[in-house]
Amino acid sequence: MSLNVGILAIQGDVQENILSTQTALKELGIEGTVNGVTTPEEISNLDGLIIPGGESTTIGQLSLVNSSLKKIKEKIENGMPVLGICAGMIMLSKTADDRVIGKTDQPLLEFLDIKIERNSFGRQKDSFEADISMDLIDIPKFNGVFIRAPSVTETGSDVEVLSKFNEKIIAVKKGNVIGTSFHPELTYDVSLHKYFVNLVKQVK
Ligand code: GLN
Repeated sequence: MSLNVGILAIQGDVQENILSTQTALKELGIEGTVNGVTTPEEISNLDGLIIPGGESTTIGQLSLVNSSLKKIKEKIENGMPVLGICAGMIMLSKTADDRVIGKTDQPLLEFLDIKIERNSFGRQKDSFEADISMDLIDIPKFNGVFIRAPSVTETGSDVEVLSKFNEKIIAVKKGNVIGTSFHPELTYDVSLHKYFVNLVKQVK
């Protein structure tokens, strides 16, 4: 059995996620391929998808226009595991407002019943790294890289909180879908990518 993992390659941290996922597969001894995907056809064949960090308004608009947004939604509803990182977590949310400019009406997948505050920790110049933990998924220590990061300000009853930093929710999970405010592909620790790959294997 070989896993087909895709990284949504419309905009953002695509190569970094390809590398981290390949490393995770290798360290786990799991067979699989990892490719950037953009079209509904490519997405329909996936066992798991990572929506990378980048700019959620761009990822949303372009995926709406080429119909991949609709295909991703369909696949998630059919159980495909998804890891949404930063802009990717914003894409998974029901509501996202910017800390400074408020409502933007950007296209979203609206799968996770969460409310997002975009750029919750400030702008690019306020980027930082911090030790965080995700005990619920057995990752007690992780280097969180925060770049124009969102936070989760409200969660529905079906959403588990995986991590908080300075009282703000920075990682969530609902079934096979995980969202993080921080960028796991920008550290050498691939434990979150490993957790995700294992999830993809279990579902397949
Ligand atoms: N602030 C960006 C957005 O709103 C997300 C930043 C990131 O993915 N690093 O889309």
